[in-house]
Amino acid sequence: MQPKPAVTARLSPGTPRHLARLARALRRGELVAVPTETVYGLAANALDARACRKIFAAKGRPARDPLIVHIRDLRELALVAQPNAAARLLAKKFWPGPLTLVLPKTSDCNVAELATAGLDTIAIRVPAHRVALDILRAFGGPVVAPSANLSGHVSPTTAAHVQSDLAGRIDLIVDGGPVAVGVESTIVGCFDEAVLLRPGGLPRGDIERVLGRKLVQPPGDADSDSGRPLAPGMLASHYAPRTLVRLDACNVEPGEALLAFGPVAVSGVDAATSVLNLSARGDLDEAAANLFGYLRALDVHGAHTIAVMPVPHHGLGEAINDRLRRAAARRD
Ligand code: AMP
Ligand code: MG
Repeated sequence: MQPKPAVTARLSPGTPRHLARLARALRRGELVAVPTETVYGLAANALDARACRKIFAAKGRPARDPLIVHIRDLRELALVAQPNAAARLLAKKFWPGPLTLVLPKTSDCNVAELATAGLDTIAIRVPAHRVALDILRAFGGPVVAPSANLSGHVSPTTAAHVQSDLAGRIDLIVDGGPVAVGVESTIVGCFDEAVLLRPGGLPRGDIERVLGRKLVQPPGDADSDSGRPLAPGMLASHYAPRTLVRLDACNVEPGEALLAFGPVAVSGVDAATSVLNLSARGDLDEAAANLFGYLRALDVHGAHTIAVMPVPHHGLGEAINDRLRRAAARRD
């Protein structure tokens, strides 16, 4: 194995020469962090088992936690997955975009077994980001791209976040500036029913309007027949800063930092309190874009706890509250 570089190289996106270099790196089995509209992804050749293994090692990700496969366009879908009518409808309407579909694999799907954690299903999406799409087209095949952070840590929304988690563990970082959406994709399983496996960057209501029916909740944590989790890797404690997180805060205790939302003030804030407001005007899209960066920023302020004001549950609020709940969950 080649020695790891001490510092990960950073590239600006865009020029054909850079794209050719990135495509070559992926073909060689290297790991390249790329901007997408949701969060920064850690890309590798989805057909290369060794490259996929390196992703799990770089992130410290458990092997049972499957990866999302990114493709260029709808035409590439049929090579790896068998979409039903609902899946085709959602893909046509929302791709490129922050929606991942979990589908049965094709019998000759050549994506590495490790990428799908040995399941007979595959999670797949087309990212809505010019740089990510340019790289996918230059590479010319499917790419796995989990969030470019250490497993269990807060997802990266800037190249600097990737650098701070993965420098020296990966080969290249492409800096495309801050991401637009800020939370990971919504994951929908398309089988006899359409199941919401993870709320994310596409609000549930948008999906339900297109389907003309409600998304089903996964039955508990596990599929009762197989005992396997329906969305493996969706652990209670995930997306977590190192500092403790206290939800639905109406006041700030001494020694706490505050993650605020909206114009309403809370009691207990003084000159010593570190405060960041997800969106002073109460805009949930703005709050999602700020969420992970602000959690990272407050994590290094030396507070013993981050107190978080309530965030409404509609629109992107469902994904924000899901990530906050995981950030606040007990870690063992
Ligand atoms: P991320 O960590 O954002 O890359 O998201 C990956 C997540 O997608 C996993 O942790 C699973 O919850 C989900 N996922 C990926 N592949 C599958 C699959 N075949 N079936 C169900 N969920 C999946
Ligand atoms: Mg992740």
